[in-house]
Amino acid sequence: MKKKEFKTESKKLMDLMINSIYTNKEIFLREIISNASDAIDKLHYMSLTDKQIKVNKKDFEIFLSIDKDKRTLSIKDNGIGMSKEELETNLGTIAKSGSEEFKTENEHKKNIDIIGQFGVGFYSAFMVAEKVEVISKKYGSDKAYKWESSGIDGYTITDSSKDDYGTEVILTIKPDSEEENYSKYLETYEIESLVHKYSDYITYPIKMEVSHTHLKDKKNESDKDEYETVTEIEVINSLTPIWRREKKNVSDDDYNTFYKDKFNDYETPLRHMHIKAEGTFEYNALLYIPSHAPYNYYSKEYEKGLQLYSNGVLIMERCADLLPDYFSFVKGVVDSPDLTLNISRETLQQNRILKTIANSIENKIKKELETMLEENKEDYEKFFKDFGLQLKYGIYNDFGMHKDKLQDLLIYTSSIDEKTTTLKEYVERMKEDQKIFTMPVVKQ
Ligand code: ADP
Repeated sequence: MKKKEFKTESKKLMDLMINSIYTNKEIFLREIISNASDAIDKLHYMSLTDKQIKVNKKDFEIFLSIDKDKRTLSIKDNGIGMSKEELETNLGTIAKSGSEEFKTENEHKKNIDIIGQFGVGFYSAFMVAEKVEVISKKYGSDKAYKWESSGIDGYTITDSSKDDYGTEVILTIKPDSEEENYSKYLETYEIESLVHKYSDYITYPIKMEVSHTHLKDKKNESDKDEYETVTEIEVINSLTPIWRREKKNVSDDDYNTFYKDKFNDYETPLRHMHIKAEGTFEYNALLYIPSHAPYNYYSKEYEKGLQLYSNGVLIMERCADLLPDYFSFVKGVVDSPDLTLNISRETLQQNRILKTIANSIENKIKKELETMLEENKEDYEKFFKDFGLQLKYGIYNDFGMHKDKLQDLLIYTSSIDEKTTTLKEYVERMKEDQKIFTMPVVKQ
């Protein structure tokens, strides 16, 4: 079987992964589980909108298994699966928006940032595995294929067999080195704790065979202590998405980890807003104000929007109608039981529910920014440094329609000291006889 070459950008990224000095190698598991969950989302969504597709929601799962002798860790899902062509295009090429960056960057520091910033996805498997196999069967097809690669020199795709539709990713874990203990990824305990740390909110059960060793019940008092090992299949994630949990049960750490994972940011956000609204329409939302602008924020490439769910089912990756342009930096998820699943882009515009939710969200964001400005000037200045331009643009745009709404969110550097001030504060402390807004007149 002839090996196929990876595309240039993929090669660069792969090289970066294999020789990674990135200390956070453990994120590979979160990336693979998140792909598995996306694949189930796709099938789940299709089954809700297409009567031909008969799957039982209860059967959806992600199954992890470890074979210590073979040094393999496998992650299996019963999602949509991939055809031969999809294996080729999805895993042979990297089409990420950040891929351009890889061509030019070779400093280690920058590369590490890139790993965090773009969420390198599937290839991160190569940080811990010497060989990666992906066996997949597309839903509705009777053929399965295997994609296999041991690194930079290429990959093969061969016919394979698989009982059910879906995908199984099998990682052959690298041997331990002086610097790195890879064998820990073959320990149930370690994998379980990584799932808790990064993938707890995944809405499908993540199952694993877990063994417990405990003291056997004694028949007689005088019997010797005897231990037994019981192996069971356990669901190791908590299943309730974080935005649906009670605020009091979610720590700042949980909110921040979720943000970093979901939105591929390596920095902790400045603020989060956990909203449970029960007005005309019911919705839950978890919104974030990032601490820095994404690399493409002030370019045409940047797409604003919030992830939209209907009762926990993802219906749109980036719903732009939920955010006005001047708050386009906000990241987050919105979940409403009042939304129907077959919302399409065309009907979205007219959707009254969505409009109402968008208005409510806009007010909350504005309030949150006001609170930040009041409570934590330092954070606000940080925010304003990166996103102030967007607010200013919002004031100028649409013939100044949003001026009144946004003007108190602007801050100005004082001419006396280095401090910043709002227009309101400035007017308040203005000397009585000071004229307002006198413009210098330049004489010709
Ligand atoms: P991303 O998930 O950010 O698109 P990845 O490199 O992680 O990038 O994955 C590339 C693509 O491969 C995915 O977009 C998806 O189409 C496909 N893919 C990966 N894992 C699976 C899976 N378990 N089931 C189906 N498709 C998958």
